[in-house]
Amino acid sequence: MNMVRTIKGTHDILPAQSGDWQDLETQIHKTANLHGYDEIRTPIIENAALFNRGVGEETDIVSKEMYSWIDKDKSTISLRPELTAPVARAYVQHNLGGQSLLQRLYYIGPSFRRERPQKGRQRQFHQFGVEAIGSDNPEQDAEVISIGWSILNSFGINELELNISSIGSENCRTNYRQELINYLKPFIPQLSEVSQHRLKHNPLRILDTKNKDEIKIIESAPKIENFYTKEDETYFLTVQQYLNDLEIPYKINPLLVRGLDYYTQTTFEISSKKIGAQDALLGGGRYDGLIKSLGGKDVPAVGFAAGMERILIAADDRKRTDKHLPCIYIVCTDLSALGPMQQIAKNLRDLGIKIILETLRRSMKAQMREANKRKANYAIIVGEKEAINETVQLKNLNEGTQDTINQSELVSYFRSLTF
Ligand code: AMP
Repeated sequence: MNMVRTIKGTHDILPAQSGDWQDLETQIHKTANLHGYDEIRTPIIENAALFNRGVGEETDIVSKEMYSWIDKDKSTISLRPELTAPVARAYVQHNLGGQSLLQRLYYIGPSFRRERPQKGRQRQFHQFGVEAIGSDNPEQDAEVISIGWSILNSFGINELELNISSIGSENCRTNYRQELINYLKPFIPQLSEVSQHRLKHNPLRILDTKNKDEIKIIESAPKIENFYTKEDETYFLTVQQYLNDLEIPYKINPLLVRGLDYYTQTTFEISSKKIGAQDALLGGGRYDGLIKSLGGKDVPAVGFAAGMERILIAADDRKRTDKHLPCIYIVCTDLSALGPMQQIAKNLRDLGIKIILETLRRSMKAQMREANKRKANYAIIVGEKEAINETVQLKNLNEGTQDTINQSELVSYFRSLTF
């Protein structure tokens, strides 16, 4: 029979890799908690309308990459392509703002986009992110950026680069958008089809182009900083001041425009030279209009999303945490001893010791080989003689020493032992 395989752009996380995933998740939980953020978990499927409104129908994510289908009750459902809109939906739906003026939330989970798969770009990938909903002050932006910075740093990723920008207030953006359109209009024949489309629907995104000819055109385009209001300017400078206070190095990159519609003021991206500046590890910004556009009050918010696959690629030479729990392998060749060994295994696990109990009924030699392969510290060996005498051979696999010990004394023996 033909083997059924994973769908294109999706991957299994195999046992050899899952330790790294657990390490990263632990780092995320730890850093988020240290900053007073609580975890939120939302469903993987949502009404398509959430993303049409919350992300924007003109974005690639929604218009080209979203997995959607009409369900049996005729509703249109989507696999989430990102988590900011779902978190904002949950905030509105459960009136989290009524519970406290500021909600500091973080999430970890899979997202789905029908992109062309390549290294660091998958159709099912994993994101973590934080969303601080309720504060419109620059210290909130700095806090959010510092959480992202600190997670990546403490996960051992070197050569991190933080780029920041401000796309100003809505007023500033409306004026700038018009100027940019005026500037680009004479170049329309030279623009790619994609950029021509963007010029109509989302002109700021053209600044983000990777096309060499377009980059040249953009070089002389009007600059957004010339359209900042006094408040926009002060806000951006204050964010920078707090980043200085936090000793986080950054670069100002005026061409940094996030792909999503709901951003205002601060935008930022963190990349690592190791995987190339084009592929950000983390991106975010302030999105003061989002909550309102999803039927909530006019509540400001700032957050980021980070790609976990890319982080793991960037961190592939980090020093791994030694997760070697103290471990005992129970080598049992006498079936009559299997019952008592179950009991002993349970009691030893209650002490926090990893116990691996042979279930393949292999030969003594094969079981001992397995114990070494699993890097066990001890083997508890029970053959026919030991089963009759209710004893075990206790072998210290690190030192090679061996003692006979009563089965009834095993638990107290290991309770007094530190590995
Ligand atoms: P975005 O929601 O587009 O701002 O993406 C946030 C982060 O998610 C990016 O910086 C990437 O690290 C990651 N990411 C986005 N799309 C993908 C994908 N298709 N595969 C893997 N990671 C992705």
